[in-house]
Amino acid sequence: MVQGVGFRPFVYRVANKFRLKGEVENRNDGVIIEIEGVESAINEFVNDIRHNAPPASYIESIHVSPVGIKSFKGFSIIPSTNISDEITLISPDIAVCKDCLDDMRSQQHRLDYPFINCTNCGPRFTIIKNLPYDRVNTTMDMFPMCDTCRAEYSDVLDRRFHAQPVACHSCGPVYTLNEKSVKIEKLALILRRLQELLDDDGIIAIKGVGGYFLACDALSTKAVEKLRKLKNREGKPFAVMFADEQALKEYTFTDEYELQAVKSWQRPIVLLGKKNDLAWSVTKGFPTIGAMLPYMPFHYLMFENIRQKVLVLTSGNFSDEPIFIDDEKALEKFLPDCEAVLSYNREIYNRVDDSIVHVVNQKARLIRRSRGYVPVPIKLEQNADGIVAAGAELVNCFCLGKGNMAFLSQHIGDLKNMETYLFYIESFNRFKDLFRVEPKLFVADLHPDYLSTRFADQSGLPVLKVQHHHAHIASCMAEHGLDEKVIGVAFDGVGLGDDGKIWGGEFFISDLSGYDRLTHFEYQQMPGGDKATLNPWRMAVSYLYSIYGESLMDLDLPFLHQVQEEELNVVIQMLEKNFNCPETSSAGRLFDAVAGLTGLCLFSDFHAEAPMRLEGAIKGRSDEMYNMDSGEIINVKPMIRQIVTDIQKNVPGSEISLKFHNTIVDIIQKIVNSVSKETGLKKVVLSGGTFQNRYISEKIEIKLQLSGLEVYMNEKIPCNDGGIALGQLAIATKKRGQV
Ligand code: ZN
Ligand code: ZN
Ligand code: FE
Repeated sequence: MVQGVGFRPFVYRVANKFRLKGEVENRNDGVIIEIEGVESAINEFVNDIRHNAPPASYIESIHVSPVGIKSFKGFSIIPSTNISDEITLISPDIAVCKDCLDDMRSQQHRLDYPFINCTNCGPRFTIIKNLPYDRVNTTMDMFPMCDTCRAEYSDVLDRRFHAQPVACHSCGPVYTLNEKSVKIEKLALILRRLQELLDDDGIIAIKGVGGYFLACDALSTKAVEKLRKLKNREGKPFAVMFADEQALKEYTFTDEYELQAVKSWQRPIVLLGKKNDLAWSVTKGFPTIGAMLPYMPFHYLMFENIRQKVLVLTSGNFSDEPIFIDDEKALEKFLPDCEAVLSYNREIYNRVDDSIVHVVNQKARLIRRSRGYVPVPIKLEQNADGIVAAGAELVNCFCLGKGNMAFLSQHIGDLKNMETYLFYIESFNRFKDLFRVEPKLFVADLHPDYLSTRFADQSGLPVLKVQHHHAHIASCMAEHGLDEKVIGVAFDGVGLGDDGKIWGGEFFISDLSGYDRLTHFEYQQMPGGDKATLNPWRMAVSYLYSIYGESLMDLDLPFLHQVQEEELNVVIQMLEKNFNCPETSSAGRLFDAVAGLTGLCLFSDFHAEAPMRLEGAIKGRSDEMYNMDSGEIINVKPMIRQIVTDIQKNVPGSEISLKFHNTIVDIIQKIVNSVSKETGLKKVVLSGGTFQNRYISEKIEIKLQLSGLEVYMNEKIPCNDGGIALGQLAIATKKRGQV
């Protein structure tokens, strides 16, 4: 990764430092450096490049070989040439760097200039329309450089040498604050006005790097409640931005790894333990805070000028729509209900949401991969050229193969939303063009009704269908470069199985080309199909019915009193007649059932709320657990009976949840260990959305490692359906001959 990250100027400066002569050239297959000088200096030069390269650059390998002497006069950067159809990588967007923040205080033409950037920082992917990465191919094309900026841009010793988005007060983009009746264009006035609006519990739509965000005072209950209403989203916690590290530490618990993640140049949202309360409605009772630090120059200016140390900064959209990037639309949609819309006049070309990370066992793991990470490719062990993967449906990302690189898209979202589906098609076509991929084979989920599967089916290309959970396991194998038989554990919400039933609690022996399903959770009726997903109490009733029949009512469990009697009777009848009750082995639905039984979450307002509430309820630590039978299939009924007894004994939900989680960890451990003993396999791959559960992933990773196994979990890509496309792609590399 050398384009747009200040790599050539860096090489130039290092060459100067060691008084070496020669040249550096960017080609689309990498960087070529010819160098002449004393051997020891050349060695130091190579070392320096290896260890001190610009933060956002990435060196995969360095090859050194002798060439003939050319008697160079000095060191020079020669213009880029395209020598092959290999790919040029595109840098993701990079948070503003420290040097630029200093320049913002000292450079006359950039005092308080909110679009300051350099070769080491600034927008990249979000403004790129085409390759090569030159200003004319970005949305900066409408801002001709002033003489001062051009001089910096052309000076190889300047920090802004060939920084494509270089800009200053006299030539670059500007902010405008739009209120219902006034427009403010002067930055100092905008900042002052922001303070007033925030103090008055106002909501402000703020244009960020990859889209619009909605901001308000995170300590103001009134403002946050208003934002909740506006967003039509009752349950999902809001992310917040802290002014600085000090403010972050006041409200959250952080260890060194979490700090490292939250301060990284990618500046993701990091899920941190809550130390002090924000307005209740920010986290809605969850024990974690989705926290980030400023990443745009404007964020720094803003926090210097307002009293607030923490703002809600949630994506600017309504329910399942993609985040808004269009200025007109933002005005039209936000201005009626927000106090102001803060915009700037540079177009966002590629939309990206904030990325989300959490740290488990000292490793940062991506839950949502977007800003700061996309479009960095994942290197595969196999040739994936011309294979395109459609992804899943609910948390969609797609993936394109070029050579042995896999280009996983930014987070797209739920394709069932029309706008999101259009975003999917648009992004797919853009990736195809940008990375010059000529699709030859489509790979999609087995589920015929996923819109991604239909998109593949309509492409006219041969389509390979891949089982959902096999793709989960393969996604993790691919990111760790595994290409052999492994023990695979896939736990998630739902995915279609090859027996036509809904899977989601699966133990495999698998490699990239196939899998054996060893065992799974016993099939359970899912009353109303998708309706059960939205109403965790339905799964609770389903499990109870399968054990107690109609006498489940005699158990007199408190949660049943919170459900409308009529609806409850309908569900019981559905179960009795087995009407509209698809069968599932899903782990997610089992978590739903326990969340329902304990009354921790009867109705789900957003995807995976019930398992999150269940995990969030855990207090303290113990090794207590329930019983589960792991014969040919896993029988959870003994556990459900014990949970019922606990509820009848008034054992608190927090304790039941803890015991339940321990039981799940234990069952995985037992089965994996016995499979390993039988087969001799030592590598275990755990994937699927359930492993976003911190308690479970933390425990199971350690326990399996202690029993001598090599444990692999997703880190660079999400273990949820956002990672599926990479798995599909990896599987297709093995099966392309069969289609
Ligand atoms: Zn910078
Ligand atoms: Zn300028
Ligand atoms: Fe899944």
